[in-house]
Amino acid sequence: MEFIHQPYIGRFAPSPTGLLHIGSLFTAVASFLDARAHNGQWLVRIEDLDPPREINGAAAAILRTLNAFGLEWDAEVVYQSQRHHHYQAALERLQQQNLVYPCFCSRKMVQHHAVRMGMDGAVYGGICAGLPLNRLPENDKLPAWRLRTPDAVIGFDDAIVGHYQQNLAHDIGDFILLRADGLWAYQLAVVVDDAAQGITHIVRGQDLLVSAPRQIYLQQCLNLPTPHYAHLPLLTNAQGQKWSKQTLAPILNIRQRENLLRQVFAYLRLPEAPEVNHIEDLLLWAVQHWQITNVSVGSINTEKSG
Ligand code: GLU
Repeated sequence: MEFIHQPYIGRFAPSPTGLLHIGSLFTAVASFLDARAHNGQWLVRIEDLDPPREINGAAAAILRTLNAFGLEWDAEVVYQSQRHHHYQAALERLQQQNLVYPCFCSRKMVQHHAVRMGMDGAVYGGICAGLPLNRLPENDKLPAWRLRTPDAVIGFDDAIVGHYQQNLAHDIGDFILLRADGLWAYQLAVVVDDAAQGITHIVRGQDLLVSAPRQIYLQQCLNLPTPHYAHLPLLTNAQGQKWSKQTLAPILNIRQRENLLRQVFAYLRLPEAPEVNHIEDLLLWAVQHWQITNVSVGSINTEKSG
């Protein structure tokens, strides 16, 4: 096999809204193995954009847990809470190109409009799209800023899911980059930071597959490179719900870390790992046997026996 020397920079980007659970460990391990199997770097970014939803101490606890599992990152951890000026600069670039507009709609107004027009309530109907950019705020209320979406298909080839595409105007609608309450939206921050960190490969959960075309379009608007994507199957409970804080995902027991890693390897369709003395040896073994093409599409019920 020809060895192509292509730099690889991957990342794990948890939000500190809770502690790591089996689902987030799965994403961390898969992104780590893919990076190491490519002789690449693996970075960690804490996506602390939404303070009301964050839990005190969760970021530090996440980093400690990654360490305990032998998942070592290669550069200083990046915190999105310290990067607001970069998101502001990106928004200003989009404003200069008239690709964004201020929106004064409340959630209720958006829903009413959708019902009236017989549209999917999740797709923004563009009520404010024609307003002048310098329109004055109503009742001192600051606007949200939305990106104008094109009536065009944005597609890409995912290393796990295969080809995936959306028509952004029809399937998503003009989406928010800066919320009316002043919080930056995930879609903008993730695009700015992936580019700033030089990320070439993104391995993450399939719940974010629907976000990828939005992110690719934003990369195009901001003249940023598009990384390779791989969206992992979701780990679910017996009811088929994605493991999360809301579905009461059990906290990882560090004393069970070898078993937990072996469990994650099985979900990633790795062969059975040999006995080892150190957890690092287990990871080394997994790097040597990692095949992203073996990973399944869809979801994996972790509570199914047998
Ligand atoms: N912060 C996001 C999450 O925890 C992940 C973002 C990403 O991987 O693009 O779900």
